[in-house]
Amino acid sequence: MRIESVESIFIDKYLFVEIRTDNGLVGLGEGGAWGFHEATAGAVLRFKDYLLGQDPLRIEHHWQYMYRWAHFRGSAVMAAISAIDIALWDITGKHFDAPVHALLGGKVRDKARAYYHVFGETKEELFSGIEDAKKMGFTAVGHLTPFLDTQRDVAYFQTHAQKIGDAVETVREYRKIAGAEMDLCIEIHRRMMPYEAVQLGRAIEPFYPLFIEDPILPDNLDEMAYVAEKISIPIATGERMTSLWEFQMLLARNAVQLVRPDVCIVGGISGARKIAALAEASHAGVVPHNPLSAVSTAACLQIAATAPNFVLQEFPNDTWDVTDKRPDSDSFLIGAARHDGEGFLTISDEPGIGVTLRPDAAEKFPYRPRKIHTRLHKDGSVVDQ
Ligand SMILES: [Mg+2]
Repeated sequence: MRIESVESIFIDKYLFVEIRTDNGLVGLGEGGAWGFHEATAGAVLRFKDYLLGQDPLRIEHHWQYMYRWAHFRGSAVMAAISAIDIALWDITGKHFDAPVHALLGGKVRDKARAYYHVFGETKEELFSGIEDAKKMGFTAVGHLTPFLDTQRDVAYFQTHAQKIGDAVETVREYRKIAGAEMDLCIEIHRRMMPYEAVQLGRAIEPFYPLFIEDPILPDNLDEMAYVAEKISIPIATGERMTSLWEFQMLLARNAVQLVRPDVCIVGGISGARKIAALAEASHAGVVPHNPLSAVSTAACLQIAATAPNFVLQEFPNDTWDVTDKRPDSDSFLIGAARHDGEGFLTISDEPGIGVTLRPDAAEKFPYRPRKIHTRLHKDGSVVDQ
């Protein structure tokens, strides 16, 4: 069996890679550098030169070859390697007529607990998002900010007292609405400095969130370790990291309790399973990052199915971001994972990753590149949101 074609496919906000073999198998993967899909597709094109004619079953060897042939790293290159890796695992599963998780040692769980995305420009929207998730049967909500998901063209200003005080009161309200039947995954989206993160983290400890995600910019691992040492709420981070080695440095500092590898930028299923094992050795949990399509979800679920230290799966519904509605998964894919109505996602036993593109998907949902747009402070400087 040989690789016959490697193609990048842009659909709506997503970038997929399809790999075909000379005996008619098709593997599907997704790239996660969502701000730079064009750059990812450029890297896929470079890797295509190498991949054509190769045996698709030598996944680890191809991973090593693509990663190590040249100097370059970073998210666009790693998104390309990730999409290719997922597609090669998909082909391998189809070749052996087995789901990928069966090839990774078999399922250690039958279904994956998931958290539902909550999004809101007002507190009322955020509160009702928690109620909606509860009614649907979810037992955890995430993407849940103690601030607001304000439109990016609205200038930001809050005093320190407003920023911390409002956030604490909002989390108090979240807990009241959620009760103990739902876990709160508090998402900061890098909006705080370390001194703010410590103050807020300590103040919301009585509401026992499951984790606090990306409390500060993730670039300085020592500062993340500083925050982790000072608060008792577990820190979840890692969604911007692109390699096993970055996660090692994070774990070595005790800067994280729940790692958040993005299967579509950490080197695919091959990269994410190594990160899960690395975390396991530090008694850290895994919460796969998943802001993309149901192809990413299907790849994440291979990790959820097989990693003993899996904790929770991010599960974005198709319309969670009211400012950025996405097409319904079933309108362009076959085999998207389902919520079972009790807070878990089903894990497919179909060969490969269990998801395929509908033939008319690219035609029906043309590419919509993300606009470069960020929020500014009242004084004109850039803020993180
Ligand atoms: Mg996040």
